[in-house]
Amino acid sequence: MDKREFLKGSAATTAAMIVTPLTTAKAFAEDAVPRTNWSGNYHYSTNKVFQPASIAEVQDAIRSVTSVRALGTRHCFNDIADSRVAQISTLKLKDISIAPDGRSVTVGAGIRYGDLASVLDAKGFALHNLASLPHISVGGAIATATHGSGMHNGNLATQVTALEFVSADGTVHKLSREKDGDRFNGAVVGLGALGVVTHITLALQPRFEVTQVVYTDLPFTELEHHFTDIMRAGYSVSLFTDWQRGLAGEVWIKRRADQGGGAAPPPLFYNAKLATKKLHPIPDHPAEACTEQLNIAGPWYERLPHFKLNFTPSSGQELQSEFLIPFDRGYEAVRAVEGLRDKLTPHLFITELRAIGADDLWMSTAYKRPSLALHFTWKPETAAVMNIVPQIEAKLAPFQARPHWGKVFTMNVSQIEALYPRINDFRALTHEFDAKGKFRNKYIHDHVDKA
Ligand SMILES: Cc1cc2nc3c(=O)[nH]c(=O)nc-3n(C[C@H](O)[C@H](O)[C@H](O)COP(=O)(O)OP(=O)(O)OC[C@H]3O[C@@H](n4cnc5c(N)ncnc54)[C@H](O)[C@@H]3O)c2cc1C
Repeated sequence: MDKREFLKGSAATTAAMIVTPLTTAKAFAEDAVPRTNWSGNYHYSTNKVFQPASIAEVQDAIRSVTSVRALGTRHCFNDIADSRVAQISTLKLKDISIAPDGRSVTVGAGIRYGDLASVLDAKGFALHNLASLPHISVGGAIATATHGSGMHNGNLATQVTALEFVSADGTVHKLSREKDGDRFNGAVVGLGALGVVTHITLALQPRFEVTQVVYTDLPFTELEHHFTDIMRAGYSVSLFTDWQRGLAGEVWIKRRADQGGGAAPPPLFYNAKLATKKLHPIPDHPAEACTEQLNIAGPWYERLPHFKLNFTPSSGQELQSEFLIPFDRGYEAVRAVEGLRDKLTPHLFITELRAIGADDLWMSTAYKRPSLALHFTWKPETAAVMNIVPQIEAKLAPFQARPHWGKVFTMNVSQIEALYPRINDFRALTHEFDAKGKFRNKYIHDHVDKA
């Protein structure tokens, strides 16, 4: 994203079927969709926002405009969801239908994981993983390859077994893993470029309980020889660092109760000390916003995210960047970024390191690569962040780092295309469903497809 893209004013458009008035994130009419993203760092370029509550209304909306983008819960930090003409908010598409055999659930694409998870849990079901926050829509998360952590956990898009979407001419399409094989793999992480996803089918498993413990001050020297063992010490493991002291200030380990998670944790973990009080990943932030720790078992959806649904996740006023590299080069990459510590720490709330399983989804950041994600939660200092991000990208270029699609990065389409072996197939797939580029915005042009 170009520095100038931040904080630009919205271009008011008045010829809307459903028009959302020009608003700020703080003050908006009851049924309006705010005109900034969640963090407030990006103003969308249109005030025309459709809010369909049915597939037919999605079809009507798409047919009525020349250009449009789907919009979920607005948690991306860049212009990926932007449109100069119109957006289609999916938040009224939130129905839930569990298959009679209990193997899958089909949901409206706008439902938030947090709202879905409690329903699933009450019926005895679970999803395999969640992101750090439950506030995001399922459709928005899978479109950008949103992930949690865990060496054997694919990202959230790998839960998808079928998709229903409306393409540029208003036709409804259904693709499934079972029937459509490779094309399905191309469509799931769709970056909003194939159409508006209306329903998503997700694989279910029986509900499970998870415990969470936090250790403090794990020396980076332990990572040199034990990186894999550390990252597989739980079902989901996150390391947090401010890069300054050659250590991970916090290590969060989430263990499934059915995989030994109930056992008492040892007081030392690779020379890190077991925390005896609840902690927030960002030092000095109140831990009440965080899911329970201290080895207290609880349902999967109240432990796998770091943050609780009814609290502000992370810091709130922030930017984020993230880069995924091959897991087996993880330690090397950590040391490479550490070389920038004095430049990045002043602008950083915290860095998180997570492992993600490989997958077959063409535009997934973990495509065919077991991955390590190096994440940066920045203070809301746009100029400084836009200065440091290219330096991180340069440090991580030898590792073929793939930027998170929904966060702040500066890599252009030539750099991106070298990282995705199936990008030409993806471009062809989007042209098949959207020959005239109705869903192609500036972000897609700048980073995915110049055509
Ligand atoms: C505090 C915070 C914590 C985060 N933690 C994580 C994390 O742990 N892991 C991680 O990987 N990411 C994380 N993210 C990033 C976030 O998960 C992604 O940006 C995700 O895409 C947000 O979903 P959304 O519904 O808000 O999408 P939006 O920002 O609304 O949209 C994102 C993209 O998806 C497209 N889209 C949305 N819905 C549809 C649909 N129905 N059909 C077609 N296209 C659609 C949009 O057009 C757009 O291109 C975090 C973000 C925040 C703010």
